[in-house]
Amino acid sequence: MPHYDLVIVGTGSGNSILDARFADRKVAIVEKGVFGGTCLNVGCIPTKMFVHPADLASSPAPAGRLGVDLELRNVRWREIRDRIFGRIDAIAEGGRRYRIEHEDNANVTVYEGEARFTGYKKLTVRLADGEETLTADQFVLAAGGRATVPEIPGLADVDYHTSDTVMRIDELPRRVVILGSGFVSAEFAHVFASFGVDVTVVARSGALLRREDEDISRRFTELASRRFDVRLNRRAVKARRTPEGVALDLEGPGGAETVEGDLLLVATGRRPNSDLLDVAATGISTLPSGHVVVDEYQRTEVDGIYALGDLSSPYELKHVANHEARVVQHNLLHPDDPVASDHRFVPHAVFTSPQIASVGLTERDAAARGLRYVTATQEYAGIAYGWAMEDETGFAKLLADPSTGQLLGAHIIGAQAPTLIQPLIQAMSFGLDAASMARGQYWIHPAMPELVENALLALPLDD
Ligand SMILES: Cc1cc2nc3c(=O)[nH]c(=O)nc-3n(C[C@H](O)[C@H](O)[C@H](O)COP(=O)(O)OP(=O)(O)OC[C@H]3O[C@@H](n4cnc5c(N)ncnc54)[C@H](O)[C@@H]3O)c2cc1C
Repeated sequence: MPHYDLVIVGTGSGNSILDARFADRKVAIVEKGVFGGTCLNVGCIPTKMFVHPADLASSPAPAGRLGVDLELRNVRWREIRDRIFGRIDAIAEGGRRYRIEHEDNANVTVYEGEARFTGYKKLTVRLADGEETLTADQFVLAAGGRATVPEIPGLADVDYHTSDTVMRIDELPRRVVILGSGFVSAEFAHVFASFGVDVTVVARSGALLRREDEDISRRFTELASRRFDVRLNRRAVKARRTPEGVALDLEGPGGAETVEGDLLLVATGRRPNSDLLDVAATGISTLPSGHVVVDEYQRTEVDGIYALGDLSSPYELKHVANHEARVVQHNLLHPDDPVASDHRFVPHAVFTSPQIASVGLTERDAAARGLRYVTATQEYAGIAYGWAMEDETGFAKLLADPSTGQLLGAHIIGAQAPTLIQPLIQAMSFGLDAASMARGQYWIHPAMPELVENALLALPLDD
């Protein structure tokens, strides 16, 4: 039974921990899938590489409103797909070869197989040619999560996709049905619709992106309903194969109905891989959501075992996993001077159309906490660059503490939202109050950040 100083499970964010400072430790890395994890192979990066050409493909409509007639003549799907995965697959394979072959990794053994705990600090890896059980003084669990698929009668018998497979299809379908109403659904709906596919979105709840601030969710639901066939408050009761693809029988407020598509994308959420890794067998407990329980130093309950990223983090975002990997790296190297993860102001973005970005509290959160807060909303239509774009739907909404001027939350829906929100994240992270932020610097005129400036100035703060 080989014994290691350190075993890392998962090569997404877990792979970034090792550097020259670990050269004197005997290390193993275990990976059951493709090197590089979700973000690189099936998550953030390929989706955004599809979103950019989708944004270009969808530009005739906004251009037409400004007097510029563009025409989408063709979408070369296979070329788009192959450009994206031509880059990504090479990076993943390069990362794998580096760990297996490069002299920098002489102290590192790569196990390519699925790991599960079979006892206290005992990890059994199922390899192509048998099993190997490893023990270690320290473990880093960075095994991420996976797409969940709801139990719908008939679903197992039809061909459906999740985000893991849908980006590699050979041909664009004529019609796509997307089950789910979160960010994965919103991003793929935009990509497919922009490429000329008829999109139907089926949501269990009464709004899309309902975890966003209510004003943002409402505006997005309105706009999405103009572009896609959106069915809200629907329960999928049966999936059936049809000559063209798939039919979903739904139940909703108006009774029974059926939606059909050539392709069904199931985008109903994700769950942590703690069950498959059987963390309980080493004495680690999980939350009802399946997330591994960690403290602020990313330590599990078992001495020497750390966890990070989607396996333990409710945020399930790559920038959070990266941050936590840096924290774990520091704590492995400096056990006597550990640092804590900073989860105070975790932003996120949805790369749909219009784009959405958010940080801090929604109005719902602030009210639930009983906080005293004020809000300000600034429309893109009210700033000069918004006039240039003829944007009539986007806005920024800020929440602040009226007595201190500290920002509590920021939510933007509209062009470049994930970029526009960054100064607000910075202000919150460094404690800059709204009035100082608005008037303590120049804002380039007439650029889009004037949206942020005007929203800050509109906050009804105490005198
Ligand atoms: C479609 C999609 C789009 C996304 N877009 C964004 C975005 O725009 N921005 C953003 O911040 N986040 C985005 N995310 C989320 C982001 O991808 C994840 O938060 C991030 O990849 C998590 O990193 P991780 O290191 O925790 O896990 P992962 O990257 O999932 O790595 C876990 C690794 O562990 C391996 N593994 C799992 N179990 C075992 C086992 N038992 N034995 C051996 N190996 C195992 C897996 O094969 C995998 O390689 C997106 C996710 C999806 C699905």
